[in-house]
Amino acid sequence: MQVDVSRALKDPGQTYSFEATARIEDMEFLDDPVSFSDIRVSGDMIGTTVGVRVNAHVSGEVSSRCALCLSPVRQPIEADIEALFSREPDPEDPDQLPLEGYRMETDELAREALVSALPMRFLCSPDCKGLCPVCGANRNISPCTCQEGGPRQSPFSALSHLLTEDEEV
Ligand SMILES: [Zn+2]
Ligand SMILES: [Zn+2]
Repeated sequence: MQVDVSRALKDPGQTYSFEATARIEDMEFLDDPVSFSDIRVSGDMIGTTVGVRVNAHVSGEVSSRCALCLSPVRQPIEADIEALFSREPDPEDPDQLPLEGYRMETDELAREALVSALPMRFLCSPDCKGLCPVCGANRNISPCTCQEGGPRQSPFSALSHLLTEDEEV
């Protein structure tokens, strides 16, 4: 969403508060589908000689899938961000965003903030039992009778699993 920043530009040094919404396109993060909803951005803006400096709190809901059992996960997410909306942003500086006339776009601001707050993996619950490595059953829903200690449990396969995980990071 675009927010009018003309008051701050006309009155440098003065703090103005703002509230906005934002939209973030669905994305893949570490091979998992991630989507955001109900995003709210609130904060302060201060006009400077080159643009508008913004301190904002971004909150919303994030949906993805459980890393262990693959079931859908939806949870709150929030982050704080500082950024400079500049007439001539430095392309080397990720904290600088372009001003569009007298408006700033909160979508990119919210995206920067919330992507940085994403967890390394989502879990449907802290004690998710995951999928059975032998039969594939979701052990949260249907405990299966497969024996523990199958081929996946050998020290060598455990090691190769670790190596695969490292590669993905
Ligand atoms: Zn799970
Ligand atoms: Zn099983």
